[in-house]
Amino acid sequence: METEIAPGVYSIPTAADSFMGMYAPNAYLVVAGKAALIDTGYQDSEAAQRNLDYINRMAPSTLAYILVTHPHPDHMGGCHIVKDSTGAQIVVHALGAARAEDFRVTADILVNDGDIIDIDGERLEVIHTPGHTLDSVCFYLRGKEILFTGDNILGFGTPVISSSGDMAQYIQSLQKLLNYRIRLLCPGHGPLVKEPERKIRELIAHRLEREQQLLSLLGQGRKSVAELVAEIYPELDRRLVELAEKQVLAHINKLIQEDKVALSGNRYTVKE
Ligand SMILES: [Zn+2]
Repeated sequence: METEIAPGVYSIPTAADSFMGMYAPNAYLVVAGKAALIDTGYQDSEAAQRNLDYINRMAPSTLAYILVTHPHPDHMGGCHIVKDSTGAQIVVHALGAARAEDFRVTADILVNDGDIIDIDGERLEVIHTPGHTLDSVCFYLRGKEILFTGDNILGFGTPVISSSGDMAQYIQSLQKLLNYRIRLLCPGHGPLVKEPERKIRELIAHRLEREQQLLSLLGQGRKSVAELVAEIYPELDRRLVELAEKQVLAHINKLIQEDKVALSGNRYTVKE
């Protein structure tokens, strides 16, 4: 099965029986004079072997880099398995080096916003897009106007702002991406996004609407995070409550930074 997205750009197929179904992490391969892998999936040997077989078929002995969108196990767990077999160097944003080590991945190259990964004939630009995590990046294949987004933008729904993330920076990162000419988004989970600008604007609008909703709920009186979650998501599955609380808190932290909301006792209130 071959999944060529554009000439020399491949989406590595995940196993049809993957336990995560459509939520399984995506991995991409860009092949020019050299090749770069973008994310690796989990450190599970079967998936890693499938990725290696694919890489060996599409880019025999030219894999030079393993680009990590952010240090979460579903995106870089397979780094060392790929590196051991190919000798490719692991590339991580400088802010993510320590967290990558926490997951037992040692970066060979640390990059910052604007750095270029040159694969002889194609260039991948590092765009620092803090939000989902502070060390998240997108990789921009300018020659083909393709953006690899990791968990900054998904093929479905709204990405989670993790406890190591930041809502204010997330919105700024999305706004920054609007400055690039992008034809196609290759997300960390879910299907390709063929209307990038619309998707990015939708995500920004969704976050700003949620923020307005929170401000208006807090305008009715002091409320705890749990009370806010209950009002915003009245029919929420109990298993998702903790995640929802994190998202509400990420919004509230942004509003506190902006001096629009304050903590009083164990509840939040709108600042006059
Ligand atoms: Zn993630």
